[in-house]
Amino acid sequence: MAGGFAKDGAVQDQIDATVEDAVKHARDQLPRGESLKNCEECDAPIPEARREAVPGVRMCITCQSELDKEAKIAAGYNRRGSKDSQLR
Ligand SMILES: [Zn+2]
Repeated sequence: MAGGFAKDGAVQDQIDATVEDAVKHARDQLPRGESLKNCEECDAPIPEARREAVPGVRMCITCQSELDKEAKIAAGYNRRGSKDSQLR
């Protein structure tokens, strides 16, 4: 147990977290190509209208709103813009 590199590790962790965050964020904003027919979380069918309205949709409305809630809490900001393009 050397105390010396604990600091370096912490800095690296911070950098990793920032990059990961940015990637996650960018991925969130991008359409992901093909929309799924069934929710990747709970396998519920995703309505045709929702699949057309949300390009690359991967989750049913229930799971998506759960995720949005978590993301909002985690990120501490409100993604109001993307909400308008989604079916409720
Ligand atoms: Zn679902």
